[in-house]
Amino acid sequence: MENFTFQNPTRLIFGKGSIEQLNSEITPEKRIMVCFGGGSAKKNGVYEQVKQALSGHFTVEFWGIEPNPDYDTVMKAVALARENNIDFLLAVGGGSVIDATKFIAHAIPYKGEDAWQLAIHNDLIKESTPLGVILTLPATGSEMNHRGVLSRRKTKEKVSFISPFSFPKFAILDPVVTFTLPEKQLTNGVVDSFMHIMEQYMTSTGNSVLMDRWAEGVLLSLIELGPKVLADKTDYDTMANFMLCATMALNGFTGMGVPQDWATHRIGYELTILYGLDHAETLAVVYPALLKILKNQKMEKLAQYAERVWGIQSGSITEKADLAIQLTEGFFRKMGMKTHMKEYGIPPEAIDIIYNRLKKNGAVYGENKNVDAEMARKIFAESY
Ligand code: NAP
Ligand code: FE
Repeated sequence: MENFTFQNPTRLIFGKGSIEQLNSEITPEKRIMVCFGGGSAKKNGVYEQVKQALSGHFTVEFWGIEPNPDYDTVMKAVALARENNIDFLLAVGGGSVIDATKFIAHAIPYKGEDAWQLAIHNDLIKESTPLGVILTLPATGSEMNHRGVLSRRKTKEKVSFISPFSFPKFAILDPVVTFTLPEKQLTNGVVDSFMHIMEQYMTSTGNSVLMDRWAEGVLLSLIELGPKVLADKTDYDTMANFMLCATMALNGFTGMGVPQDWATHRIGYELTILYGLDHAETLAVVYPALLKILKNQKMEKLAQYAERVWGIQSGSITEKADLAIQLTEGFFRKMGMKTHMKEYGIPPEAIDIIYNRLKKNGAVYGENKNVDAEMARKIFAESY
């Protein structure tokens, strides 16, 4: 087991009607900026609930944070927050709104000329405006973690940032607000949370007994819940369990002492910034191919995953590993995902275009730091 320090300071407030508790989570003297996406919060009643809960507070609203939030958009929010002397931020939405709000929180007090540097050199983040979250889309785990992802369309970059200042003070999760999610976002949410576990779990064998069992518990739950979520998104217990899985998949609880992979996430960003795929779509395209290419490295763990998660008890280690890869891809497809680049109409030249970009950046990802540009090219070629 690797050395680790664990702390998760985010207070998790969960259940029906829990948005009401906002009022007591933020002290009355705070000047709050509430950050929203494109309008789903107005359509599904979340906006009214937030407004009511904050009726005694000073609030300013910032609307228009797009999926895969853009640097130019968040800097508009930073300007609005500074103009209004904002000292508390509330994100109402999915991962995009939450990640954007984290970045806004870091950029408000930043004195440097170019706030983009905060996304690249995370140690420049030395203080932050406190933030809270109302989650409307179970997927990213951002509501209870210290990670964020920011895009800059002008320069075709998508980067992730990590800072202890990114932990929200609280996260309010009312599963009822997820009843309005379109099927596409449900599929994305199941696949993204499944992949958050895999990025941590599918790394080494034998030295993280508790974390393995924990991760397998979340994977088994998602395999059971995924089809139910698609069949009836208004079933409270189904959505509540799915929502809790998504949060637990990336809030540090399954990562204690565990080597981390994240290559699929990182090389997948290229498909979003260049070809516009949703985040989870990129994961479903990259991961089955990555497992095929790195099968030998991950063989023993793949066999354990086959046995414990997919119930495969017979066959050689290699046969179990092969079957586990097939079943993983099958699960993504059952959830309605495409798993090959070609299916999105991406031209074959994309493989070399991405290769050149990764090479230029000196990219190296994965638990063994061997997913470089060359390896990524093999993975994308396999996926194609
Ligand atoms: P999202 O981009 O936040 O939201 C996708 C869409 O869902 C938006 O159009 C949004 O509409 C809509 N939506 C949200 N809640 C809804 C509801 N209750 N009913 C109806 N529609 C709703 O999706 P996401 O998958 O949560 O976030 C993706 C981003 O997170 C990517 O940038 C990805 O790279 C990043 N990410 C972050 C982490 C992390 O740890 N921080 C991990 C993985 C991925 P509106 O805009 O109208 O609200
Ligand atoms: Fe993700």
